[in-house]
Amino acid sequence: MSLHSDDHRTLLHGIHTIDGGLASELEYLGARIDGPLWSAHVLEDDPDKVAAVHRAYIEAGSECIATCSYQVSRMGYAEIGLPPERADAALLRSVALARSVTREFPGRRILVAASLGPYGAALHNGAEYHGNYDCSFADLVAFHRERIGVLANTPAPQSPDLLAFETLPSLDEARAIAEAIAPWPELPAWFSFTCRDQHHVAHGEPLSACAAFVAALPQTVAIGVNCIPPHWVPALIAELRAASTKPVMVYPNSGEGWDAEARAWIGSTDPSAFGPLAKQWFAAGAQIVGGCCRTRPAHIRQVSAILH
Ligand SMILES: [Zn+2]
Repeated sequence: MSLHSDDHRTLLHGIHTIDGGLASELEYLGARIDGPLWSAHVLEDDPDKVAAVHRAYIEAGSECIATCSYQVSRMGYAEIGLPPERADAALLRSVALARSVTREFPGRRILVAASLGPYGAALHNGAEYHGNYDCSFADLVAFHRERIGVLANTPAPQSPDLLAFETLPSLDEARAIAEAIAPWPELPAWFSFTCRDQHHVAHGEPLSACAAFVAALPQTVAIGVNCIPPHWVPALIAELRAASTKPVMVYPNSGEGWDAEARAWIGSTDPSAFGPLAKQWFAAGAQIVGGCCRTRPAHIRQVSAILH
């Protein structure tokens, strides 16, 4: 996987719509995602369901799809007694699967982004929503470098078009990824943070500081926020735009709220409300809009419709 710097600048040209929730869509399709590997279980046991979700998003208008690898890591696999090669193979399989679905749409340019969740996602205890990890900075670097290395050392077309670091909770984790990815300055990557309010990432640092930090990395092709309520998005776009000139990307949740006590989603979502919101986000300076938890192809269709 490698790109020249010119390609870096043009990779996301014309890309305005990414996909929506993957794990939640798999759940809607009846897949079980509550095990320690979360959506990676489905990748192992029922890849056709993953392909069906990719296909549904592309049909809805997604110009970039994220692989089913958010929680794939050697650490997570080791916890359930699986060897590191199995994790590495799953990572590459998720890319191959997404790529094979894009080939069903030969007239369209559709990018494949390798979804790489934060360290907290591999702990599967919600730690990515506060970013307080019980590990050293070196552990964090090693965690990220293992996965980056597997993808970086895989030639095209088996490699993804870019790496998607998402739901990042802290400046520290962004720093760790910067160190982990440093040997591969030519690898395109996007960095998307999750936030505790309209100005700060989940761990508490100003979003603007995190955005300015990743904007300076040679790998960065876009900076964004995800897994946040839709009504925070305009303020977060302003923070991102003030901190950097990189393309801005937003993919919030559906608008339903997570009730931690009841361990359930509350409220409802109306996909038809997502289009007008996306219109506001584009007007506020976002280049790329998609959805995170509980958003569905119907939401993405709304985003796509306002562009065409
Ligand atoms: Zn989410």
